[in-house]
Amino acid sequence: MPLSVPVTITLPPIDHSYTVHTDRQRWSADQLIVETDGRAALENAVRENVRKSSTCVFAGLTEADISVTEHPDGSIAMVGRVLCDEADCHTAARRHHLDAAEAIEAKAAADWAAEKHLGLAPGGLRAEKRRSGWTFQERTLFARMSIGIILTAVGAAMSTYDYQRPDNLSGGSLSAVFGQQADKTCNLLAFPTIVAGALFVLFAVISHVTTTRTSKEG
Ligand SMILES: [Zn+2]
Repeated sequence: MPLSVPVTITLPPIDHSYTVHTDRQRWSADQLIVETDGRAALENAVRENVRKSSTCVFAGLTEADISVTEHPDGSIAMVGRVLCDEADCHTAARRHHLDAAEAIEAKAAADWAAEKHLGLAPGGLRAEKRRSGWTFQERTLFARMSIGIILTAVGAAMSTYDYQRPDNLSGGSLSAVFGQQADKTCNLLAFPTIVAGALFVLFAVISHVTTTRTSKEG
């Protein structure tokens, strides 16, 4: 029976939410003999069920990991599993109430997911699959570029800020002193801020290109 198991792996600083799309089938010796190649037929049936186990596009496109158990009575059990990090799948899977048999399957799936997760290099799952939506690297690029652009804009704003001391103010006015200080500070900080912003954007692009290349090679 195909099943989608929600798994949360707590590995500080963040929780990783996955869904294991899985199917387990056990064919008796008699069932295996019916097919020319019973083993291959069983494996195909399991893969097919994992593919169709949910509306998940990723599960539909990914070859499932297969584990095989041969029993003394000649029967063979196979489990197919796909590790998916789609948020929609996780939410949907959490809504399903597991019965006793499914709970055992879910426990096995969680153990497998933890092992698979640890075996992946950071961002490894992203590298394994390529689908629509932003990758972690693209989000990082966007975040860094936003910071750079904001810094540049703040710097530009500071460079244009000019405090005009009102003529009717007396010499010791606190707001005038504050205004002049702010003006001085702005003049002092404007240029470095713009440079920092520009460097941030440059760094974001360089680091994006480097990490993207590294993950493609790796
Ligand atoms: Zn999925």
